[in-house]
Amino acid sequence: MEPNGILIYGELNEEQEIKTVVYELLTKARELKEKIWNQAIRVCIIGPRINYEEIINKLGSYGADDVIIVSDNRLKEYNHNYHPEIFTQIAQKFPPRMILIGATLQGKEIASYTAVKLETGLTADCTDLDIGENNLLLSTRPTFGGQLTADILCSTFPQMATIQENIFKAHSIENHSVNAIYNWIDIDKIDKRINIIKSIKKIINKHDIQNSKILVSGGAGACQNNGFALIYQLAQKLKAQVCGSREAREKGFITKAQQVGQTGKIVSPDIYIAIGISGANQHLTGIKNSGKIIAVNKDKNAPIFNYSDIGIVGDLFEILPELIRSLDNIEEENDQ
Ligand SMILES: Cc1cc2nc3c(=O)[nH]c(=O)nc-3n(C[C@H](O)[C@H](O)[C@H](O)COP(=O)(O)OP(=O)(O)OC[C@H]3O[C@@H](n4cnc5c(N)ncnc54)[C@H](O)[C@@H]3O)c2cc1C
Repeated sequence: MEPNGILIYGELNEEQEIKTVVYELLTKARELKEKIWNQAIRVCIIGPRINYEEIINKLGSYGADDVIIVSDNRLKEYNHNYHPEIFTQIAQKFPPRMILIGATLQGKEIASYTAVKLETGLTADCTDLDIGENNLLLSTRPTFGGQLTADILCSTFPQMATIQENIFKAHSIENHSVNAIYNWIDIDKIDKRINIIKSIKKIINKHDIQNSKILVSGGAGACQNNGFALIYQLAQKLKAQVCGSREAREKGFITKAQQVGQTGKIVSPDIYIAIGISGANQHLTGIKNSGKIIAVNKDKNAPIFNYSDIGIVGDLFEILPELIRSLDNIEEENDQ
């Protein structure tokens, strides 16, 4: 069978819903499909025996042509033995030109396992995808410690890439038809090399910065003279979450879970307020999907201003108290 199509891993979350990154990848796959003819977009779901109708229709509304489902109640939770092997078997049965997988914990394992089994290359943690010469997948990723980005053309098939969450924006389309393909795989025949002795549930932080609509972010400029106290006050007034740059984490003002950027989290709030942050490439990687970026910096040449919708040049120790006072006044007026 000639390699055809773009195969996407349809990762499910614990509630058996498709993760957002899959819709983001579908949106990008549609763009790639327009550049290379006649390629079907397929999503492979590996999960328990449930009714997938709603999920299939929703995937269709984001551009999936086929949804391949492998279901068994032993697949209710992610399993290191089963999921990577099943995905590989699907990629062997429906040989794709390209495989796109979210760079999640599951996705990273599945992608590396599949690449080894299919003896092909894998570009990990991409920040963009396009079609290059000879209709090959062109994957962009940071390199040299994030100082540069590399465009990588993979010449072995399938061409594989993992892409971080929140890199692309998901957009649905109307009137797109989708086929469901139920595929049976004999799970008993899969080698069980890993024995799971105990699973411990991670406590999910409801205040995860990746789910926040408004983020107030502090950098090295705010790490002096109690600047972060002002950042927390402003965030409280705006009902926002606090995050920051790597400098702020290294100086102990935020945790690793609050760090934004290449080695932190990629965020996509409606409003991102960058205070005392210069706008290094590694930081910008994490914020490029923000709705509006507002920057406060005393250096009018700070690179962050090239990426902001609103730039305030000035000392944060003058600007933030003023902003907080204005918000106090608005609150008082609303109370009256
Ligand atoms: C491999 C690698 C990965 C990295 N990953 C990340 C990452 O994930 N996230 C990340 O953020 N960085 C990352 N970095 C670090 C990155 O290169 C920058 O060093 C870092 O982002 C700088 O943080 P900053 O903007 O807070 O500090 P600085 O670059 O020092 O900027 C501080 C800014 O504050 C302004 N300022 C100072 N005082 C005031 C004041 N009173 N009022 C207003 N403005 C003021 C200054 O004008 C300056 O622009 C990474 C680096 C490498 C090599």
